[in-house]
Amino acid sequence: MPATRLTKGLRFRIALVMTVMLAALLGVLNFYPAQAVRRLIINSKEADLLERARTLATELEGFATLNQENINVSMQVLDLGEDQRILVTDNFGSVIYDNAKASTLAGRYTLLPEIVSALSGNDVFHCRYGEEAFVSSAAVPVMNGRATLGSVYIYDYDTAQADFLRSTQRNIFQISMLLAVIGFVILVAFMVYFGKRTTMLIDGIRDMSAGNYDSRIQISGQDELAEVAYEFNLLADRLQKTEEVRREFVSNASHELKTPLASIKLLSDSILQTEGISKESVAEFLQDINEEIDRLTRITERLLQLTKLDHVPPSAAEDCDLNTLVEKIGELLRENAFQAQVTLEDQVPQGLKVHFDKDGLYQVVFNLMENAIKYNRPGGKVTIQAQKQENGELVHLQIQDTGIGMAPEELPHIFERFYRVDKARSRERGGTGLGLAIVSDWLQVLGGKIQVESVLGQGTTFTVTLPAARPPEEDSL
Ligand code: ADP
Repeated sequence: MPATRLTKGLRFRIALVMTVMLAALLGVLNFYPAQAVRRLIINSKEADLLERARTLATELEGFATLNQENINVSMQVLDLGEDQRILVTDNFGSVIYDNAKASTLAGRYTLLPEIVSALSGNDVFHCRYGEEAFVSSAAVPVMNGRATLGSVYIYDYDTAQADFLRSTQRNIFQISMLLAVIGFVILVAFMVYFGKRTTMLIDGIRDMSAGNYDSRIQISGQDELAEVAYEFNLLADRLQKTEEVRREFVSNASHELKTPLASIKLLSDSILQTEGISKESVAEFLQDINEEIDRLTRITERLLQLTKLDHVPPSAAEDCDLNTLVEKIGELLRENAFQAQVTLEDQVPQGLKVHFDKDGLYQVVFNLMENAIKYNRPGGKVTIQAQKQENGELVHLQIQDTGIGMAPEELPHIFERFYRVDKARSRERGGTGLGLAIVSDWLQVLGGKIQVESVLGQGTTFTVTLPAARPPEEDSL
């Protein structure tokens, strides 16, 4: 399964990055502090050894020549201690004094590089950190005026500081190991936790793509994954709703199409199976078949309109003159009104314009006026009025009839697809149950509103609210 591999890949990639970062951190932790302590020790050694050597050299500079006696005197005065080896040489590098009791170098020449350098007038210091000790040496010249009398050389072998450095390194290493273990535990916990949550997410999505629209993901917390799950659940809600609407629509549509088809089948069978059927009866049956075909055509046309509505471009609005439109539709419905013995009264003021999609507006007004005639009573009236709202931004268009009206509990449903208050009556009057659904879809897509008030047996008023057309430019500066 590719999705699982993906999560694993992501999880392991995060783990790899975290491991590399942890290793780098531990590496830095092990390297830098030890390095700093080492430099500190070496610096303090340099300061200490050179200071001692210079003190002795300064003491000796008072003598005209260097010999065992005056050096011994100076050594006593200075009391330099015994833990370091101290050599004093003459200006040829011959050792005059050596504080080591055993294997003394006194009386011998020494070619130690530090002493050679000190005899040429330089202060010298060297330090080396070996396995067990800091081995340091310092040498300074002993001057008398401009002449070099000799040199002082101090050698130090310090195991205590080396021990200290080693134990510091050991401590840091132990702390690093502890941190590594803690880091590893956190890493494993993270991988398990992250893995569990992503698996929940993937399972939910997989469930949904398999067609289980009830599937919801329960991920607690407030992190990004919880947010993804929340958004997914919202999406699932919407999908579920859309799916339900789609199913209902398909089943309603097929039902609606089946009824006229069944009638046509029945009528044509009657023609075919009735022996010696008269010409008049055939004409009658054909008339009925024709009506059913008209009905089928109406339904399919309206279904097509509904599907087209999903693709209405948002910028199709233009200024439309309401009075012209109502007059035109009135003309088209004149025959219907005449048949139903209903009077049409157009009270829309001249020149009142709305800003709306022309086709959409036509559909809205046509369907409402057609219904107002269709669900009226002989001798009834349909009044069409329109007025601008006070602030001039909206126009209210009212289509009022004195017809059969509707009960209050019907009103919330009349905009649903295929909903009819009185199925038989609607059918008898050529209704499809799609007219108001089309009206409401147009208004929803293009930003209008519709309200309905109705009293059973007295009549119905539909009020459509539309954006008014902008006044001409002369109003602006
Ligand atoms: P139909 O094609 O059946 O007219 P509509 O969607 O246009 O479908 O209307 C839905 C139902 O609402 C109708 O079947 C009818 O019962 C009711 N209806 C619509 N307009 C009116 C009206 N002006 N007066 C009374 N009932 C109406």
